[in-house]
Amino acid sequence: MKVRNINRLLIIFSLFEGKKHGYEIIKEIEEKTGKRPSASQIYPFLEKMEEEGYIKMEEEGKRGKKVYSLTGEGEDFVESKFKMFSDIVESTIKKDLSVCAHCGCKVYEGGHSEEIDGEELNFCCKHCASTYQKSQG
Ligand SMILES: [Zn+2]
Repeated sequence: MKVRNINRLLIIFSLFEGKKHGYEIIKEIEEKTGKRPSASQIYPFLEKMEEEGYIKMEEEGKRGKKVYSLTGEGEDFVESKFKMFSDIVESTIKKDLSVCAHCGCKVYEGGHSEEIDGEELNFCCKHCASTYQKSQG
């Protein structure tokens, strides 16, 4: 099953924290995105997730308010999404990653770059840059 939009993702992440009423989910998404989702964006998805066995719905209290929670299978599903996201974040960071031209350590941000012989080189620090420059003679 695919998670096509951010609201759906927020729904399942929200349920990962514990069981919620439909309106609580809506409120949470509104707080996180600044936009209030409509009921038609929330409930059909909850129903579908229930059909797929990821969510269970219970009626609570005298008025039979619907409460949603993740099943064991649903929790596994969310965990796999979490993992997918952390992999995406990791590969995005790695793309921007450069390696110090002197010591070879990884430089994420705030490294030191210097132009040496007309070439822009990245270093982790000034010290590495000057050592490199001396070694180049
Ligand atoms: Zn270095």
